[in-house]
Amino acid sequence: MKNLIFSFILMLIGGSIYGQNLKSDQGHEHNPYYSTVDTTKLKVSDAEWKKVLPKNLYLVAREKNTEMPFTGKYWKSKTKGTYYCAACGNLLFRSDAKFASSCGWPSFYEPLRPNSVEYHEDHSHEMDRTEVLCGRCGAHLGHIFNDGPAPTYKRFCMNSVSLDFQPDKTDKTK
Ligand code: FE
Repeated sequence: MKNLIFSFILMLIGGSIYGQNLKSDQGHEHNPYYSTVDTTKLKVSDAEWKKVLPKNLYLVAREKNTEMPFTGKYWKSKTKGTYYCAACGNLLFRSDAKFASSCGWPSFYEPLRPNSVEYHEDHSHEMDRTEVLCGRCGAHLGHIFNDGPAPTYKRFCMNSVSLDFQPDKTDKTK
């Protein structure tokens, strides 16, 4: 009987640990700034971001690195759902605005809300480009180009690593 009670307690402990793992399945357990509902603008130093973000995300989000084309998680994904900023959880794009681009990075023709993103002139690497940043935390997401499809003819060329994806619960293609 004692053994049975002990096993039951172990099961409960195991269950709660498993539950915690499920909650942190996106790997945000060390990131106190991550929220998909709080839209308050964040002013967080790069030193602080360095402590809370995974290294590959920090390098893109804060040091403006670019992931290799055709290597990211989402460049060819057609699953219906919502894309969030991987650094802060800000709502960024719906899959409806995603289109098949040959560039090797996930591409969208419009953000979910106009203030989901911000723009910044970027003259680095001897190019004149417009950088796209997260409207909430300022994370580097990618660049915008004028060769997208209708209706906007814009191409938001994003790094997969800067995005979190939440599939729609009703998506039957999954
Ligand atoms: Fe963000």
